[in-house]
Amino acid sequence: MNSALRKLPAVDAVMRTPDAEKLSERHGIGAATAAVRTTLENLRRDILSGEEPDVSEGAVVFSAAKLLSESGLRRVVNATGVALHTNLGRSVLSEKSIEAVVEAASGYSNLEYDLSAGKRGSRYDHAVPLLTELTGAEDALVVNNCAGATLLALAAVIAGAEDPENPPEVIVSRGQLIEIGGGFRIPEVLETSGAKLREVGTTNRTRLADYEHAINENTRAVLWVHPSNFAVHGFTESAGVDELSTLPVPVIADVGSGAFYPISDEPKVRDVLRDGAELVVFSGDKLLGGPQAGISVGSSRLISAMRKLPLTRALRADKLCLAALEATLDSYLNGTEMDELPTLRMLHAPVEKIEERAWNLARKVEAVSPELSVDAVPSVARSGGGTLPVYEIPSFAVRVRGTDADEFAARLREAEVPVIGRVYEGSLLLDARTLLSGDEERIIEAVRNIRG
Ligand SMILES: *Cc1c(COP(=O)(O)O)cnc(C)c1O
Repeated sequence: MNSALRKLPAVDAVMRTPDAEKLSERHGIGAATAAVRTTLENLRRDILSGEEPDVSEGAVVFSAAKLLSESGLRRVVNATGVALHTNLGRSVLSEKSIEAVVEAASGYSNLEYDLSAGKRGSRYDHAVPLLTELTGAEDALVVNNCAGATLLALAAVIAGAEDPENPPEVIVSRGQLIEIGGGFRIPEVLETSGAKLREVGTTNRTRLADYEHAINENTRAVLWVHPSNFAVHGFTESAGVDELSTLPVPVIADVGSGAFYPISDEPKVRDVLRDGAELVVFSGDKLLGGPQAGISVGSSRLISAMRKLPLTRALRADKLCLAALEATLDSYLNGTEMDELPTLRMLHAPVEKIEERAWNLARKVEAVSPELSVDAVPSVARSGGGTLPVYEIPSFAVRVRGTDADEFAARLREAEVPVIGRVYEGSLLLDARTLLSGDEERIIEAVRNIRG
């Protein structure tokens, strides 16, 4: 046997060291032992592939601790200035939504139970009255996410097509054959749904006539996609949903962000329906400010066709999502969304308030770390999450200088509650617009520990 392998300590021996005991106290004995075992297995593999790693018990515990602190879903401080940061979890739920989630999680609910009839009900009935009231739609369906809703909508319009010689077609403008991120590409979603993609127009210009010429007896729908994460400038032309709705086929609009109130030139869900889309799909956790969800609103004909698809079962929303969504929609119905939904509060807070918050935080950071040079500077925040790509929100950031910015940013990410900022021109910037209540204290704590 390889002599280096023989030097690898046993799990029990590692677990008896004082460092491992501390690890067990912090994470529980089960998790700590599992992490030590995984670390030893990794070391074994490294040795077999010819490496000479440090196999001391101390080194094993150190790696195990790193493994434990990096894995698992953890709270972080979003100081990036990007409100709907997809990598950081997009929308933060309102207090009311959190209460609704706790309530739904703590006991049984009428998730699929009809209370008046005393028998089985449907989970797809929840949130529907709220959504139809708020958007003016006939019917609504909530599933796991918007990508799923788009897929279901396409599968529903082509359902029943059986002639392989004449596959059902869906028309999309070449200017809208986009990738949203995370591998969601419109042409691939179409292919997965079973629809044949019929491209029309060019990247920068597509007119109503282009769609008209492409329509044939196999055409089932026009898909209009909001190019949410980029903008095309210059010599451009595109047909709006209002024009497309004059065509003799249904229009499905994937608007993505799902704004219920006017913000920049983002399409409002209600307006897109009024313009004549038969179905509008959008996310629950972008500009709506709720939980991750894919929401479809539109005609009863299409929504009920979607409900019947076996795929809908695979993409169904869970009770926690439905609870949070209903509470989020309640805020809109009560007209209290700007006060209650953290996403909207964050996006619309006056810049003077953000400036004040940034200066306060800058003074506190400098107080705990006087060797740093800290001030507040104007910055630009963004909505993010693939919404409003060119919409710049005036903001303020705490600027930390007098240290290696990349190194300092890395140390902040190692904090008990990791702080995510950005490095710009050699300074670390912590944008104050996306900070939540309690985040100032978390940042101070993180800075204090870097020092100590
Ligand atoms: C974000 C987005 C999606 C995907 O939404 P998820 O809820 O993340 O699945 C789909 N279409 C458009 C236009 C989007 O902006």
